[in-house]
Amino acid sequence: MAPRFYNTLSQRLEEFAPADGKTVRMYTCGPTVYSYAHIGNFRTFVFQDILRRTLRAHGWALNHVMNITDVDDRIIQNATEARQTIQEYTAPFTKAFLEDLATLRVERPETISPATEHIGEMVELIERLNESGHTYKSDGSVYFRIATFPEYGKLSHTNFSGNVAGARIDTDKYEKEDARDFAVWKGPKPGEPAWDTPFGAGRPGWHIECSAMAMRHLGETLDIHTGGVDLVFPHHENEIAQSEAATGKPFARFWLHSEHLLVEGQKMSKSLGNFFTLREIVEKGYTPDAVRYLLASAPYRKQLNFTFDGLKAAATSIERLRNFELRLKTSRFAEGLDPEAEARTAACAGAFDAAMDDDLNTADALGAIFEYIRDINTLIDGGSFRSGNVKGALEMLRKFDAIFDVLRPPAQEGALTDEQVNALIGQRNQARKSRDFARADAIRHELAAQGIVLEDTKDGVRWKRK
Ligand code: AMP
Ligand code: ZN
Repeated sequence: MAPRFYNTLSQRLEEFAPADGKTVRMYTCGPTVYSYAHIGNFRTFVFQDILRRTLRAHGWALNHVMNITDVDDRIIQNATEARQTIQEYTAPFTKAFLEDLATLRVERPETISPATEHIGEMVELIERLNESGHTYKSDGSVYFRIATFPEYGKLSHTNFSGNVAGARIDTDKYEKEDARDFAVWKGPKPGEPAWDTPFGAGRPGWHIECSAMAMRHLGETLDIHTGGVDLVFPHHENEIAQSEAATGKPFARFWLHSEHLLVEGQKMSKSLGNFFTLREIVEKGYTPDAVRYLLASAPYRKQLNFTFDGLKAAATSIERLRNFELRLKTSRFAEGLDPEAEARTAACAGAFDAAMDDDLNTADALGAIFEYIRDINTLIDGGSFRSGNVKGALEMLRKFDAIFDVLRPPAQEGALTDEQVNALIGQRNQARKSRDFARADAIRHELAAQGIVLEDTKDGVRWKRK
């Protein structure tokens, strides 16, 4: 069955399939790398990851593009204050963002690319708009003339008709023909980075980068465009205006927007200062898989209130899932196949798919899984679950985990566990007792190579991670 997604453009649930029947061409607005992304931002990126994985489960290939906004007012200001180029300033935040995505098991889009590597495409697009009369120059900048795009407002469902074209609103203040007009190209200012173009030096406006990058990699009509709800207006409305004005074709067939992560009823945001980065949360001792689970557990079109209790509950849920998997893998079951257990597995698979196809209803999908775990545990306790049922049950967990990806414990990338460290220290003590100092030293070096520092005290050996 085809999945159904809520399309912001039509304000309806619509059945989805890629236009060519094979590959989903999808674009996601990426982060502005003037600082670390917070877990509110990551709610949106986890949502698009869940979307990706659901599309793949339908057998479609993915061609997914994400931009990194590495030139904007805040970046320029911060870089100037730090006496750095924008590249120097943004590089560590881009790196941190990519690391955080990996930590949260958010799959990398097929293309992730910084805006500054697509200036050529942006210039071409602006030239197309200039030639077709959709822009005008004012004070060194180039503006999109919204009066030339009558469908403006169709995504955010705003009626701008009372405020039309030509009526020069407050031109002194805006130096624009219409207050809604937006810059596709910003004129140069002293000390700011600038690129030379046929229509004058300067730098791109924010909106143009997404249109140019999306169409460069995915063609003029995308299957899906995603972002957080705060981007519907004006960002996505402007993307539509400039893309469709240039091509005369629909820019994206589906627009999917995720709701916000809140803190005490307010949007988690940098400007309110009520945010946590992933790193802060991990430092507090929570695991990234709990963060992923929490962010994924609420359907993306519902607001989600972030609390540490919520994170703890997420960790508990993951434990239940892992314990269930362990029980299936390590228990001895009587030979045979229980038809009831098989029926429950099939029912769970059906309910899980139906929930995900219902506009990514992750809450219902999780509900189906936990009901299944309860039922199967009861069958196991009662002795009716058989060895022949294990395969189907594990496949059900694989199906679940292909989307949620929380069953694997966090990889400590080759790091030793506490138990392993203690065992090696025990061996070293043994070696020293038997005066095998070469072996004792070798163990110390091996531990040091893994970032474990030993301290010999009168009470014995203490150790810590570097
Ligand atoms: P930015 O780096 O500000 O451009 O934001 C990157 C993405 O995070 C955008 O898609 C935003 O809509 C999204 N976003 C920002 N704050 C939140 C929040 N509190 N909850 C969910 N998504 C958010
Ligand atoms: Zn964008």
